[in-house]
Parts: sequence; structure tokens; C-alpha cells
Amino acid sequence: MSDRFTAIHMKEQPAEDRRKNFSEVPCGYTEEEAILEANRCLQCKNAPCIEGCPVAIDIRSFIGHLQKREFDKAINKIYEADILPCVTGRVCPQESQCQARCVLDKKGDAVSIGSLERYVADRDLDRRREALKDAPVDVSGKTKVAVIGSGPAGIACAADLNRYGYDVTIFEAFHKAGGVLTYGIPEFRLPKAIVDVEINSLVQTGVKLVPNALTGRSFTIDELMAEDYKAVFVGSGAGLPQFMNIPGENLNNVYSANEFLTRVNLMKAHRYPEYDTPVKHGKNCAVIGGGNVALDVARTAIRLGSEKVYLIYRRSQEEMPARHEEIRHALEEGMELLALTNPVAYHGDESGFLEKIECVKMELGEPDDSGRRRPIVKEGSNFFIEADVCVVSVGSTPNPLIAMTTPLLETTKWGTIKVDDNGMTTMPGVFAGGDIVTGAATVITAMGAGRTAAASMHEYIKKL
Ligand code: FAD
Ligand code: SF4
Ligand code: SF4
Repeated sequence: MSDRFTAIHMKEQPAEDRRKNFSEVPCGYTEEEAILEANRCLQCKNAPCIEGCPVAIDIRSFIGHLQKREFDKAINKIYEADILPCVTGRVCPQESQCQARCVLDKKGDAVSIGSLERYVADRDLDRRREALKDAPVDVSGKTKVAVIGSGPAGIACAADLNRYGYDVTIFEAFHKAGGVLTYGIPEFRLPKAIVDVEINSLVQTGVKLVPNALTGRSFTIDELMAEDYKAVFVGSGAGLPQFMNIPGENLNNVYSANEFLTRVNLMKAHRYPEYDTPVKHGKNCAVIGGGNVALDVARTAIRLGSEKVYLIYRRSQEEMPARHEEIRHALEEGMELLALTNPVAYHGDESGFLEKIECVKMELGEPDDSGRRRPIVKEGSNFFIEADVCVVSVGSTPNPLIAMTTPLLETTKWGTIKVDDNGMTTMPGVFAGGDIVTGAATVITAMGAGRTAAASMHEYIKKL
């Protein structure tokens, strides 16, 4: 039952079941649940929720259509601003974006905008799968443009450029498209079958996809421009893992989150030996970090069969940047949170394999630049955690390859590419957006940046 102030929560796989499988955790709404939840929306005149959405979806209108069971109108309203609603409805940090601005949030539960978005988008999946049977659209003879990287920024940019009438080619370094949606976010949060529909839909509209094409190594941006690509969009993300530079990081079985998740999500290591790539998950697996990536690693390790999974985080649980829902899910699944704890060294056996992690206890001091209280080491608090695998998830930065091989591209001191308000870089005709510009951020902001850049590329080419 619901009243105006209490949300209908999606049913979820019980923790005991889901810790043994990779299937999606929330089960999605039934039609009746979706309508009940939609009916909580007050259809506010000024709809402050819309300001909370980075791409300004007309939330009030789409929920209004849902209230009247006008499902086609609801999804079309969403598509006006968001071309990946199956994805954003699942992974957006809604509670700090659209839902944080919902008027009901002050008095009770905000309207579950993300869950409603997911419901409407999932309802449209069958129609979209059916449309994939049509032959790909022929775009030959049209003006050529290139997109580097097939994550949300690249997908959104390519889709809009295709709509503007260009012959779009996406060059992707990996053998499979999708960026973090494919290799980072695990199946139990974002089923890969959904990402496949998004990619295949793009290809069906005439966008060409070239896998295993590492820009900066296979070819340079200058070479692309010389091949008559009139404009290039760089959406190559921020996939270079950071480490803490503490002793022992080179020991066997100390992974970066990027490598650990890629082995499982992209190379299907959880189905080894059916697939070629193995991954060591360990009996005792420690994960360093407190963001969504660290939580994804911890929950993956639980599913792979680690007996103990520790999350080592230097601040307190309240300061963890991960979504609250992910933290709740992970704790329910058995992850042990070691808050106010920081690793200082890894210790291995004589063969170079990790055996234990030396940690210190932390306490919180004054707020730092991020506004969060600074963690301070408690002197003399060193202790050891037995761990045969450790996954370091303390952030990532852009890979410097493209900037290094494109002399006219200016970067910031963090290695991100500099752009103007239109998404244009310091090299004429070359645009950029997503994590390569902002540093690690979110799917919806990357998608928004891809769309802004596509509009600017269109204007730029019209003036050539
Ligand atoms: P990416 O998704 O990183 O895509 C970049 C693509 O470019 C990749 O496919 C890469 O292979 C390719 N590439 C890189 N270099 C080259 C090159 N030289 N040549 C050709 N191709 C290249 N965000 C959320 O909103 N919600 C979440 O719950 C969430 N969870 C996350 C969990 C994990 C594990 C990770 C890693 C990130 C998560 N994020 C989440 C962040 C979000 O996924 C990213 O902000 C978003 O994917 C950025 O999109 P992008 O297109 O800029 O880059
Ligand atoms: Fe909310 Fe994200 Fe959907 Fe925007 S895209 S309405 S922020 S869930
Ligand atoms: Fe509906 Fe909340 Fe938006 Fe008002 S603020 S229109 S109640 S979702």
C-alpha cells in the first residue's frame, strides 16, 4: 500500500539468493505498482524535480502520461532529453539529483522518478528489439564525422550526429562497445542485454562501429582529419586506475578495480573456464575505497565466492561517496565495512603473493577542500588484515595516449582535455565530453556532454 508520502519500493532478490548469482537485484515495477507510484506525483506547476536532472527531462509530463497509462507518450517525452533511459533509470544517483528536488522529499519519500523512468523504458524494449530486425540505414555519401570511445558520451554524441544526418563512425579501443556500461558496471546492476540493445540500435540507424581501434596507437586524430572526417568527438573516458603508491602494490593479486571488473564484466571471468580469462577472487578479499566502483568490486567478489569481503575506507560510512542503496545492498550481502581504516603497506609470501594488508586506524579532523572531514592517522594504531586478494578502487584518471599523440590538444593538470562552453577543444574541429573532460563523473553528465558536443559539431560543420 502507498500513501502520498510513502514510496512503492521495487521488489528485490533476497540477499541470500543474490549473493550467489549475477542477476539484477531490483526486479522492476509491475504496471499496477508503477501507476500507484506515478499517482503520488502532485504534477507541480514549477516541477522543481526537472532542475535536478542534468539533462532536464520533462519529469512532470512523463509521469503525467504514466498516470493516464499513456505509455508511448511517456517514453517519447523521456527520449526528448535522454536516449538511454533503461540505463539512467537504473544507475543515475537519483536521490541526489531529480529526487532530491521533488517537493515530497521534504515531507516523506520523493517520487521514485528513476524507478518510473526504468519502468517506462523497459516497457519499450520489446518494440526496440523488434525494430532491430530492419536492415541498417544506408548513410553513404553523407558528411563523415568520427567519435572516439563508445561509452555514454560517445553513444549520445553519435546518436545525435546520426539524427543531424551525418555518416558517423565510432572508434572503440575494446572489442565490445559500451564503455563503463559494458566493462565497469556489473550485470547485477545493469544487465548487459540492455546495453546491447542500445549499441545495436545505434548501428541499425547507420552508425558504424569499429572495435579494437585504439586512437593514438592504431591511428591519430590528425590522420582521421586527413581522411576527411570533418569533425571528431573524443569521449575516451577516465579509465586509467590510480594507486596509493604504498609498499607492496606490485605483489601478485593486488588488482586495480578497473582490471578486476573488466575481467569479470567484459571477459566473463566468472564463467572461467567456459571463457578464457580467469580472475582470482580470493578467500579473503579486501577492497580499498568508498565509491560506487569499490562497492561494485566488493559485491562482485561476494558473488565470485570470497568467504570474507572487507571494504576498507578511510572516512566514516556517512562520508562514503557511493549511493546509499549500493551500500545497503552490499552490507545485506555480507560485505564487512572497515571504516576509518587506511592501508599503509601490502605484505606478501616468498613467492610474491599477497598475504596481508597493514592498516592504520583513522579519525576525522576539520573539513578539507571537498567539504568532508579530513581523515587523520591515529599514530601507533597499525594492525594487519589477512587477505589473499586486494582490489584498489581509489579513483581513475584519463589515459594520456590521445593527448600525447595530438599536439594541438591542451589538457589540464589532471590530464583532462580542455574544452570551451560548446565542447570544442583547443584543436579546431575536435570536440570532447564526458569523463575525459570532467574526470570520473556520471553516466547522465557524460551523455549530456555528448549531446552538447554533437549540436556544436553540427554548427561547426555548417560553417565550413
Ligand atoms: P566511458 O564510459 O569510460 O567510455 C569511454 C570509452 O572510450 C571506453 O569504451 C574506452 O574503451 C574507450 N577509449 C578509451 N581510450 C580510447 C582510445 N584511445 N581509442 C578508442 N577508444 C578509447 N555513473 C553513474 O551515473 N552511476 C553509477 O552507478 C556508476 N557506477 C560506476 C561503476 C563503475 C565500476 C565505474 C567505473 C563507473 C561508474 N559510473 C557510474 C561512472 C560512469 O560510468 C562514467 O561517468 C561514464 O561511463 C563516463 O562515460 P564516458 O563516455 O565519458 O566514458
Ligand atoms: Fe533523474 Fe537521472 Fe532520470 Fe534525470 S536521467 S530524471 S536525474 S533518473
Ligand atoms: Fe512530481 Fe515531485 Fe516533480 Fe512535483 S517535484 S512534479 S511531485 S516528481
